[in-house]
Amino acid sequence: MEKNILDRINDYFEYMRESFGENILLDLDDIQSSSKEQNVKNVMKIDNSKTIERNELDKISMVKDISTEKNIELTVANDWQNSNSIDELHLKINNCMECKLGKTRKNFVFGSGNPNADIMVIGEAPGADEDEQGLPFVGRAGQLLTKILESISLSREEVYIANIAKCRPPNNRRPEKEETDKCEPYLLKQIELIKPEFILSLGLTSVDTLLKKTHKMADVRGKLLDYHGTKMIVTYHPAALLRNPNWKKFVWEDVKFLRRLYDEYLEKKAN
Ligand code: SF4
Repeated sequence: MEKNILDRINDYFEYMRESFGENILLDLDDIQSSSKEQNVKNVMKIDNSKTIERNELDKISMVKDISTEKNIELTVANDWQNSNSIDELHLKINNCMECKLGKTRKNFVFGSGNPNADIMVIGEAPGADEDEQGLPFVGRAGQLLTKILESISLSREEVYIANIAKCRPPNNRRPEKEETDKCEPYLLKQIELIKPEFILSLGLTSVDTLLKKTHKMADVRGKLLDYHGTKMIVTYHPAALLRNPNWKKFVWEDVKFLRRLYDEYLEKKAN
């Protein structure tokens, strides 16, 4: 289950303490828990040496450490691009409110799996189950994805699973360009940290967003594409298979193609 906002703020301060050795203590007594916005507005006090400055209503405020006069932003850390690990990146961006999806999400869905995965699976955006649990691909489509991976002898734990947009679009609509434009840099940073050998892009929204072009599935399936230097294979989104089971045979072909390339890669690596 995704941590609640109070846990995340605490995590953030733990991280700051570890990183900078500052004595940052968060007094949670003053924080209400009725809603995220409520929480944000009520983050009032961090022991006697710290104060909070509010930015905008729907953003978590700046925290000022009076002893160092340093401002610490609790939205997206300014230096998130310098993150050295997936966990650090998660911690630094999980309060993101850069697009309007931040206001309506229940949970930020960062991604899950092996941080050193050879294969990264990239979908479109979280749905209701994912939003509820803070994890990618956990609903019916996610269960189907697990089976698809298992069909080529891969477990969810071996790969890394993420979406282009980290927050659920209302009513499961497609993420809008403005939203994916804001969110894609986080995905790029995830790819930079994980360094997968292969990307499996699920669905046309995913591939169109990644390659900045409108495609037909028939034109991109069965081909080895390139996404910022990483080999990419495209197939149907599992949610599309739930609507149209006839496409399962195409997905089977696509993942077998991926498995073959991956085996070739492993063999080469071993020699
Ligand atoms: S969808 Fe991405 S950019 Fe928009 S609020 Fe969520 S994390 Fe931030």
